[in-house]
Amino acid sequence: MLLLTRTTPYDEVKNKTEGMSVFLVDIKAAGKAIEARKLEMMLNHETNELFINDLEVPVENLIGEEGKGFRYLLDGLNAERILVSAGSIGSARWCVAKAAKYASERVVFGRPIGANQGVQFPIARAHVATEAADLMRWRAATLFDAKQRCGAEANMAKYLSSEAAMDAANACIDAHGGYGFAVEYDIERVFRSSRLSRTAPINNNLVLAFIGEHVLGMPKSY
Ligand SMILES: Cc1cc2nc3c(=O)[nH]c(=O)nc-3n(C[C@H](O)[C@H](O)[C@H](O)COP(=O)(O)OP(=O)(O)OC[C@H]3O[C@@H](n4cnc5c(N)ncnc54)[C@H](O)[C@@H]3O)c2cc1C
Repeated sequence: MLLLTRTTPYDEVKNKTEGMSVFLVDIKAAGKAIEARKLEMMLNHETNELFINDLEVPVENLIGEEGKGFRYLLDGLNAERILVSAGSIGSARWCVAKAAKYASERVVFGRPIGANQGVQFPIARAHVATEAADLMRWRAATLFDAKQRCGAEANMAKYLSSEAAMDAANACIDAHGGYGFAVEYDIERVFRSSRLSRTAPINNNLVLAFIGEHVLGMPKSY
């Protein structure tokens, strides 16, 4: 396990993000010092609560420099946001394609349901949002690969793609009517997993707080 922990007390550092270090922890060797309790979630995602008590970690398991751990974590967080964006865009595209196909084939009241703007436009809107998110995802990834700052772009990509995925999943369920809820169509599963990315790995309110403060220079809101 990669563990980020405070190694210099909070009141001894100037900036609260300093004084944290990253360690590689051998979970098996930790024994009872780490207790993992499985959480049942609404989606198939191995999620546990960890309780850590009196854990000893050898000093050679320190990763990088002591006290700089939060910065190392941030490096990984941008990559994670770009990765999550790619996942959301994939889900969104799957939903848009499935919805467009079904809406073109399913006939109600003598015509394909996709001929109605009430069915067609939400699918088209989700497509537009998905392709815009995709551009921001590539911009963030390109900056990341060039080792340039990409915090704003990675956050915006995560925001746009998670909202697009949710819109696409909703449009897909709506287009399929009752079948959207049938497990055999896979839509409800993609709907549930799409919902996650609005909340994790960072919720979209905190993305907006980051943009408001660090990109637009407004006062910190939390
Ligand atoms: C399936 C799953 C897997 C996860 N995996 C990991 C993992 O591998 N590693 C890990 O570290 N974490 C993981 N998480 C945790 C995840 O990162 C957090 O749940 C997420 O960042 C939200 O934080 P929170 O749950 O503490 O919500 P809170 O911070 O308690 O927030 C609750 C709600 O209040 C709102 N809110 C809070 N403060 C403000 C504010 N100042 N302004 C506006 N709105 C606010 C938020 O929008 C949110 O909707 C996982 C979560 C899930 C559901």
